[in-house]
Amino acid sequence: MKKILLEDHEIPKQWYNILPDLPSPLEPPLDPQTNQPMSPEKLKALFPEALIEQEVSDKRWIDIPPEVLDIYSIWRPTPLIRADRLEEFLDTPAKIYYKYEGVSPAGSHKPNTAVAQAYYNAKEGVKRLTTETGAGQWGSSLAFAGQYFGIEIKVYMVKVSYHQKPYRRVLMETWGAKVIPSPSPYTETGKRILEEDPDNPGSLGIAISEAVEEALSREDTHYSLGSVLNHVLLHQTVIGLEAKKQLEKVGQYPDIVIGSAGGGSNFAGLSLPFVMDKLEGSKNPRFIAVEPSSCPTLTKGRYEYDFGDTAGMTPLMKMHTLGHDFIPPSIHAGGLRYHGMAPIISKLYEEKIIEAVAVPQTAIFKAAVDFARTEGIIPAPESAHAVRAAIDEALRCRETGEEKVILFNLSGHGLLDLSAYQQYLEGKLTD
Ligand SMILES: *Cc1c(COP(=O)(O)O)cnc(C)c1O
Repeated sequence: MKKILLEDHEIPKQWYNILPDLPSPLEPPLDPQTNQPMSPEKLKALFPEALIEQEVSDKRWIDIPPEVLDIYSIWRPTPLIRADRLEEFLDTPAKIYYKYEGVSPAGSHKPNTAVAQAYYNAKEGVKRLTTETGAGQWGSSLAFAGQYFGIEIKVYMVKVSYHQKPYRRVLMETWGAKVIPSPSPYTETGKRILEEDPDNPGSLGIAISEAVEEALSREDTHYSLGSVLNHVLLHQTVIGLEAKKQLEKVGQYPDIVIGSAGGGSNFAGLSLPFVMDKLEGSKNPRFIAVEPSSCPTLTKGRYEYDFGDTAGMTPLMKMHTLGHDFIPPSIHAGGLRYHGMAPIISKLYEEKIIEAVAVPQTAIFKAAVDFARTEGIIPAPESAHAVRAAIDEALRCRETGEEKVILFNLSGHGLLDLSAYQQYLEGKLTD
């Protein structure tokens, strides 16, 4: 059997919070106006109290609410699959397993946190959520989640993607969300940018500024972020907790854990439950975060306080960053084009508990096509970064003869990214 599943009683009922286990505490987020630690009071304009609590919680395990578990059960537990045909193709003694998050309704890992965030907001009486999206993975996940709790979702979508990638916009609208191309004429930030440059193609940083601005200006509206923040990484740990149990069932433990890294949430989701073992000293796997060489946040960014958005409206966070005004080149892995990195992942990288590599776009698609031709699933371009690194590690094992166990996160499918595959197959893709 290639696919390893879980019995109902084995499904995780709690998320793992790494904050109390970190070797040193995270630096606090700073208020953009005063440069002093952000007061939880001020965060209440943007987030529900339950999420603010999770953001700084010192509880190691946090219960997943039954309402959230119920929605998770539509697609969770996700399969853990042994990539034996890929192993054969690579002629490697390594054992390769991948956790497949593309089975969610939105096609990626992002609904794991979208559902939780929509739930906690609804519970505290919030009626509307604003957010930003690049190619549409996050916006569609939140649109999907919002409908379960009667929350109106408004998505500021990076303008160039809004026009070039219409299908995820259709997904969002099908799930009832309102989608606005960003920069838009409806916010002060958008107006200012359009005045200077009416053809501005937009960026994630600009779209975040617009979504935050709207949430701050309305009493009934909160803001929701799909990566980077501690509570988002917390919700994603369901991936690694499941994977750990699935591997246990076949008597395995990973030597190497791999994930693509944009803001760090799918990498963290798979890794943190194993990082826990490493911090405890009971196991010593390697962890590899894989980023695009065109947006090398961990490998080339500086570790310092920076804003999460372009206009400087979000709290300042200590993280690896390329600078909040960095506009990454347009690559097909849109979900990895973010200037910053989750503070938790940045800290683990700084402490040398995890590693990072940066890889160019053509090498990514080569790996994705090799994977599709052996394992069948067409990876999202973001996930293909993890595929690339897993293949490279497996090839290293072929050189050394080591029978390592490699675990990677296939964070989503690429069925809405076929134009990128077309360009690659026609030889038109460049680095
Ligand atoms: C958004 C996205 C990513 C990158 O975001 P992280 O927060 O770093 O996980 C990776 N893979 C897929 C499929 C995505 O949609």
